[in-house]
Amino acid sequence: MAMIPPEIADRLYKNVYICMKCNARIRTNKPHRTKCRKCGSKQLRPVKKGMKMKK
Ligand SMILES: [Zn+2]
Repeated sequence: MAMIPPEIADRLYKNVYICMKCNARIRTNKPHRTKCRKCGSKQLRPVKKGMKMKK
């Protein structure tokens, strides 16, 4: 298992949120003012660090 470099991890997790309805990944620095592009939901949660990306 390779460790993810901090720069990459930042890019993956910083300002990235997940729609709680449809699980779409949304990049924003204003989560409270952002709607999901797919379903229009405002219910976003931060990406959990350590969550592995499935390829
Ligand atoms: Zn959504």
